[in-house]
Amino acid sequence: MATILVIEDEDSIRSLIKITLNIDNHTVLEASDGEEGLAIFNEAKKNKNLPDLILLDIMLPKISGYEILEKLKEELIPIIFLTAKSSTQDKVLGLKLGAYDYLSKPFEPLELLARVEAAIRTRNAYLSQEKPKKEPEIDYQNIRIFPTERKVLANNKEINLTVKEYDLLYLFITNVGQVYTREQLVNQVWGYDYLGNSRTVDMHVKQLRKKLPLKDALETVYKVGYKLNYIDEN
Ligand code: CA
Repeated sequence: MATILVIEDEDSIRSLIKITLNIDNHTVLEASDGEEGLAIFNEAKKNKNLPDLILLDIMLPKISGYEILEKLKEELIPIIFLTAKSSTQDKVLGLKLGAYDYLSKPFEPLELLARVEAAIRTRNAYLSQEKPKKEPEIDYQNIRIFPTERKVLANNKEINLTVKEYDLLYLFITNVGQVYTREQLVNQVWGYDYLGNSRTVDMHVKQLRKKLPLKDALETVYKVGYKLNYIDEN
């Protein structure tokens, strides 16, 4: 069941559409010219209660269907336009202006219902698409990492890190207490096919200690490598 705005100036057609849509228990909002149609739309938008679909006649008094398509092209609402014209050009223009589908008048009620259902199904599928997940922030002492933005704050001040400095920091902070050999760090941060040597790791650790308050926390493990210590609770 959906709310459908029908903008159609011919009373007989509008009634037929309404009766047909009522068969599937849809709620119908009626407008008999373009101006009224837009007014109903804008009012609904203001009340954050937008219709699920618009059925829009093209040849309308006051504001034409094409103009309405143009005005509503940014809205996430499927529009099916109704056209009495049989020329391909008119249909193409409507679709180019952003309409989801069209229906040629006269149409069979069953065809109307089928097209309406398809449009609403598509819209619902689109709206329910999962938004990309935002990774939660990670805190370590007075350092805060925003993984989605690859942003790092230290004492609330943004710190500029190179790509690899960031990757290395992220690895340490998400694996506190873990001892890594230089080779493991190279493999994990630079990749197995990296041709540089483990001195690269030392240089990056040095930079992290310099840029961030990690001087003591990021510890050199004698003859092995590095680890980030657990936060000192004292
Ligand atoms: Ca008309």
